[in-house]
Amino acid sequence: MKRISLILAATFAACTLTFAAAPVNDVCPVKGKPIRLIFRTTFKGQVVAFCCQDCKAEFEKNPGRYNVKPAEPK
Ligand SMILES: [Zn+2]
Repeated sequence: MKRISLILAATFAACTLTFAAAPVNDVCPVKGKPIRLIFRTTFKGQVVAFCCQDCKAEFEKNPGRYNVKPAEPK
């Protein structure tokens, strides 16, 4: 049981870190729609955001397949 708690704690910490960071992209790499900040993952140390949960799941299945475009500087 102790091991599971440790894994959960680590997962929670990782999620907290992920949610604190801003995504590199402003367009969903899967569908090309505007991103929503609640749907995001990390890939190669970068935070990547998506338009919906489906795109996030799709990207995580095969992250190398999608081209993450960095957001245009404002
Ligand atoms: Zn989507």
